[in-house]
Amino acid sequence: MENLVIGGLVLMLGAAVGSFLNVVIYRLPAGLSLLHPPSRCPKCHTSLQPYDNVPILGWLWLRGKCRYCRAPITMRYPLIEALTAALFLATFLQWGVAWITPAYWALLSWLVALAFIDVDTLTLPNPLTQSGLVLGLVAQAVIPLVNTGAWQAAVVGWMNGVLGMVVGLWVFEIITLVASLALGQTAMGGGDAKLAAMLGAWLGWPGVLLSGFLACLLGAVVGGGAIALGWMRRPQPLPFGPFLALGSVLTVFWGAALMNAYRAVFLPGI
Ligand SMILES: [Zn+2]
Repeated sequence: MENLVIGGLVLMLGAAVGSFLNVVIYRLPAGLSLLHPPSRCPKCHTSLQPYDNVPILGWLWLRGKCRYCRAPITMRYPLIEALTAALFLATFLQWGVAWITPAYWALLSWLVALAFIDVDTLTLPNPLTQSGLVLGLVAQAVIPLVNTGAWQAAVVGWMNGVLGMVVGLWVFEIITLVASLALGQTAMGGGDAKLAAMLGAWLGWPGVLLSGFLACLLGAVVGGGAIALGWMRRPQPLPFGPFLALGSVLTVFWGAALMNAYRAVFLPGI
């Protein structure tokens, strides 16, 4: 019973954060303030009442339409809220009450915002990738410190983050090179390099290698599939940020299991 209540609270927190991420995704690339004005209909600009602004439920009881002008409200808003809630709950179920849990909540929130902004605008805004990088380095130092109380652990953790950041940049260079050789062109931008550095800081060098590998695999499957089905023409740029984000979500939750399986199959003696 107690677990159900905590799980419900985690879901509500995730949905509320997701609701704020919708604001970030919509306003940050446009250079608008994240706090003012409060949420309003994009068509008639009427401010939303608090009861219409409840994550997921607000959209459902308005049946996806503005209360005032009946303009349709995109289903992406409740979907991003539900996605964030699910990621928050999955993190809590895996790590429980531990410092790593809020740290990963932060990482996953950054990734949701970055992935959808990249889909919309083909850019990854510097304020997000840079703050995400700094947060990752801080988390790498602070989590071992609070868990062990030893300054040495903080220094080792921080150095792991810096090493991961450097490897992240290096992984990005390799992916860019391979993509330009394979496709003759690439949609990779400076934002992707900064995202790779941020992911390295958070996930360490093995994690960022795995994320990069999974991102390429997913990108090849989705990009190849879209071209094969005629949904996409070849020169059309495909944002790489969402694949990096998805690859790192998989790494956060299943990276250790994937790396153990790899070791068992290919490096059985080690
Ligand atoms: Zn309206």
